[in-house]
Amino acid sequence: MINATYPFDALMDITARPPVVFVRGKGSFLWDDDGKRYLDFVQGWAVNCLGHSPPVVAEALAAQAKLLLTPSPAFYNAPSLKLAKALVDHSCFDRVFFTNSGAEANEGAIKLARKYGALHRSGAHEIITFEGGFHGRTLATMSASGKKAFEPLFEPKVSGFPKARLNDLASVKGLINDKTIAVMLEPIQGEAGVWPATDHFLRELRTLTREHGLLLILDEIQTGMGRTGKLFHYQHAGIEPDIMTLGKGIGGGVPLAAMLATEAACCFEHGDQGGTFNGNPLMCAAGLAVLQQVADPDFLKSAVDSGLYLESELQRMSARHGLGEVRGRGLLVALDLRHPIAAPIVAQAFDDGILLNAPQPDALRFMPALNVTREQIAGMIDALDAVLTRIGAARRVA
Ligand SMILES: *Cc1c(COP(=O)(O)O)cnc(C)c1O
Repeated sequence: MINATYPFDALMDITARPPVVFVRGKGSFLWDDDGKRYLDFVQGWAVNCLGHSPPVVAEALAAQAKLLLTPSPAFYNAPSLKLAKALVDHSCFDRVFFTNSGAEANEGAIKLARKYGALHRSGAHEIITFEGGFHGRTLATMSASGKKAFEPLFEPKVSGFPKARLNDLASVKGLINDKTIAVMLEPIQGEAGVWPATDHFLRELRTLTREHGLLLILDEIQTGMGRTGKLFHYQHAGIEPDIMTLGKGIGGGVPLAAMLATEAACCFEHGDQGGTFNGNPLMCAAGLAVLQQVADPDFLKSAVDSGLYLESELQRMSARHGLGEVRGRGLLVALDLRHPIAAPIVAQAFDDGILLNAPQPDALRFMPALNVTREQIAGMIDALDAVLTRIGAARRVA
């Protein structure tokens, strides 16, 4: 129902959106301006790790807003110092650079690697990335992405991002030359449809990059902050990358992202990197509130349990409807539909009050709040089951 009170055509038309305006969110639920309630398994695109408008984040924002919004990036502020220290304490990294978006964090990682190459490897600057990878929508991060649809866009691209194949070490080795400075990947390719790098492959990459003196950059913008059941995905593989980027979940709903690096990789000199809002106290206060919850071992344990439950319920449903595999880890899970029927399923589920995402025409992705309940998972499964039955029946008639 297009609501005449909203001037829809004043926004640039950059994507197809359902003609509904969301006005309120709480936990796993969203409400539109008509009062209709939706069970949300998109959660701001794997952003709202504590659900919609979590009280701890709302309170941290309100308190910080009254205290100090921003003193300028040229001065220290308390929330950014505290959040950086907490991230360093919980990870294998030594220093943090805060940004306002994931793409900007990846831009920072690319710049840091190029600087490292300029300083230590006589100007080596190529960063091996992967087919199917997604790193953002700035020019450099689109160039680093291995998304087919990006290829013809906004030419010329930023050069220096040769593409290897995920879980194929030989394809990486074949691209290494004296211009190479780093290997960069998502531990699970989220936008491509939830395609995991194996832990074995991540360990092989760590060994290979060490042998060649290359930096290993993990884009954990989607997999980090507890999404896959550990605070950071690299911990599953037992490796230590040189650089990691975080986004999405780190702010629990507000625009916050970060680039973390080991001391050895930190080589920016004054003037190399910055930004007006980077590390502003308001967003960092939200980040602190989020990290305090998500880093709690009991919280992570319950996210793991929810992930296992979601996975097993999806597997049973897949068997009932003759669909394909369930892949992913923790609460980043995809269901392979084996046919390009994701769009009508998402549209029907939307009408039924369930928000789902289709990263590919033949796959559904589930990225609920990390504190989603068993009951909410069961509710989503029942609703999706009904949609699949209807769509399956329609397909058989057609
Ligand atoms: C979402 C995402 C990005 C881009 O983050 P933005 O905040 O949209 O710029 C980069 N890498 C991965 C893996 C992502 O999932």
